[in-house]
Amino acid sequence: MMIKVPNIALILVFLAFQVQGQTNFASQREKMVRTQIKTRGITNPVTLYAMLNVPRHEFVPDSQKDYSYSDSPLPIGKGQTISQPFIVAYMTQALKLESTDKVLEVGTGSGYQAAVLAKIVDSVYTIEIIKELALSSKKKMQTLGYSNITVKWGDGYNGWPNKAPFDAIMVTAGAESIPQPLIDQLKVGGRMIIPVGPHYGTRQLVLIIKKKNKVVKKNVMLVRFVPLTRKIRE
Ligand code: SAH
Repeated sequence: MMIKVPNIALILVFLAFQVQGQTNFASQREKMVRTQIKTRGITNPVTLYAMLNVPRHEFVPDSQKDYSYSDSPLPIGKGQTISQPFIVAYMTQALKLESTDKVLEVGTGSGYQAAVLAKIVDSVYTIEIIKELALSSKKKMQTLGYSNITVKWGDGYNGWPNKAPFDAIMVTAGAESIPQPLIDQLKVGGRMIIPVGPHYGTRQLVLIIKKKNKVVKKNVMLVRFVPLTRKIRE
């Protein structure tokens, strides 16, 4: 019996720290949106809403938690990175998403970008070529309750034929050229955003709009991304 009181006290102190930690992350996130995203011209309300409400710190490794809301990409293991918050917001806004959209993401990584998309659209299908990342993202989605995200381990170059066509496609790894299967899996009126350029170099972020009889491409920004590979990894 004697030991019970200190135990309860310890639990209360622990809970207080937990609550304070979450509040701290929420205020860092609010600051991130204000100073890194709004100031750089992101105005789309649903994009801002998603950036404010997805806990980025839940998607980075423990060693990176302190930098969760910093203005930079971060390592997520296996030589891969989670993009800089501004790039996530920019690519999200560029897709002009509607709440009824079905979206494909190629390059799940940590799952953060998929979670941002999932706050906005009806359903997100996301493919990751490294098994360990695919499995950990899948688990994370379940833990955090993102029930409208489906994660698959595989090569996203070929898209996801039996879930196609998509209203929008986002590729979050740098491609040397635009994969034709992805264009084929876009609806007419569909939008795609993809970094394109030489291996490991600076790439052009290309916005693609599939019209009835043509595909319109526009270079929107220079970016750096880890490469889109074709090698399925454990
Ligand atoms: N969107 C991610 C970051 C992506 S990093 C996030 O929010 O965290 C790019 C990811 O693309 C890496 O995890 C890499 O393994 C994956 N990738 C590379 N080539 C791929 C391919 N052909 N198909 C699917 N995923 C691929």
